[in-house]
Amino acid sequence: MKRMNNAFKNYLSQIKKVDKVLKFEPWVKERLKKPQKTIEVNFPVKMDNGETRMFRGFRVQFNNSRGPFKGGIRFHPQVDFAEIKALAAWMAIKCAVADIPFGGAKGGVMVDPKKLSENELKRLSKGYVRAIYQEIGPDLDVPAPDVNTNPKIMGWMVDEYTKVQSAKCKAQNYLAAFTGKPIDKGGSEGRVEATGVGGVIVVATLAQKLKFKNEKLKIAIQGFGNVGYHFAYFAKEAGFKIIAVSDSQGGVFVPQGLDPLATLKCKKESGQVAGCYCVGSVCDLSFGRPISNQELLELPVDILVPAALENVITQENAAKIKAKAIIEMANGPVTTEADEILAKRGIMTVPDVLANSGGVTVSYFEWLQNKKGEHWTKEKVNRKLKTKITKAFNDVWKESQERQISLRDAAYILAIQRIIKAMEK
Ligand code: NAD
Repeated sequence: MKRMNNAFKNYLSQIKKVDKVLKFEPWVKERLKKPQKTIEVNFPVKMDNGETRMFRGFRVQFNNSRGPFKGGIRFHPQVDFAEIKALAAWMAIKCAVADIPFGGAKGGVMVDPKKLSENELKRLSKGYVRAIYQEIGPDLDVPAPDVNTNPKIMGWMVDEYTKVQSAKCKAQNYLAAFTGKPIDKGGSEGRVEATGVGGVIVVATLAQKLKFKNEKLKIAIQGFGNVGYHFAYFAKEAGFKIIAVSDSQGGVFVPQGLDPLATLKCKKESGQVAGCYCVGSVCDLSFGRPISNQELLELPVDILVPAALENVITQENAAKIKAKAIIEMANGPVTTEADEILAKRGIMTVPDVLANSGGVTVSYFEWLQNKKGEHWTKEKVNRKLKTKITKAFNDVWKESQERQISLRDAAYILAIQRIIKAMEK
């Protein structure tokens, strides 16, 4: 499982680079390299045919010096321990870059959710919570959605957590134990689209710094799930031209610009984005064509947005990337080797720990609202998100300009300085 194992290696090489600058004390280096706690669970789920199947899940709690552990739960057949460990470490860095008072964690279950019925998925989600409930909680570890998990699943999970906790302790409000919940179960306005919205604020701020006009910039997006779709939708609203999108089945290339909402509607009807190159009700090949994921990554666009999975830009294809800038909306889409090739070619990369921090930032707002018993308007959430993410971008930009280093190195230096400060307390 090369894709997964590389992810943690990428994290370690980044730590090594920061060590050269900050010169860690030995104990700091050890703490940054190893998770505080790892949890592996095997739990039963009753299937619709009456059989009971066992499933394997993980929760890795990497670092909680700055606040409760925080990180999503991924359902994927190729989830493994190394991948979850890397994602947990990145969460600690991300929360520090975004300057929110959380540490980093991540969870996952080895399952192909597309092969389960809705009821099986519900029992799996609840089973995973029963297996890990003693390790999570509003002030201990706060999970959220990730690949193949969504608000509905968070709703099932918070219900189960409340049920098990209430049976053991005094019944109380446990809503802050999960974020990314449905609005009617304590979710925040704006959370579903927050990662995409945050990414668009980042790309617009970058365009401003580079004195580019949004309207002049062509964007290709790999991945058309929660993050990819919302990024596409809000980027189009902000005036950018989206010329290609894809999902796991392939994609579409529409040189004159596509409509993300119409493409989503078409994907819902046909089950995939490949083939969704119609403009309105008119379908004509001259408007666009199907495209493979590999081709999409190599299109001559201004901005390339990987928004699917890890390690899609590697030393094999980095020399073929034609974009001027990469906005990492997925976690870990560029390998360390590819990063070096891209840097030498003058391609600027906005790292995942900054670019996709909008999701965890609004998760923090949700957690705060649950704790205070408040419900903020979408305008308030988006206003606060814009302030927070613009500040994070400017801090990283300043660090990178002052030290003459990449945005990734700058983000890691900034974050690790903040984590060390908290660890030393
Ligand atoms: P999702 O499950 O909603 O969507 C994933 C998308 O990627 C789907 O369109 C899927 O078809 C596509 N995909 C899967 N395998 C692919 C492949 N091999 N090639 C091309 N496309 C492929 O997941 P999401 O929540 O949108 O998450 C996407 C990425 O963003 C992940 O790396 C995740 O960790 C990261 N992320 C998500 C959030 C969030 O709030 N959801 C926050 C921060 C980071």
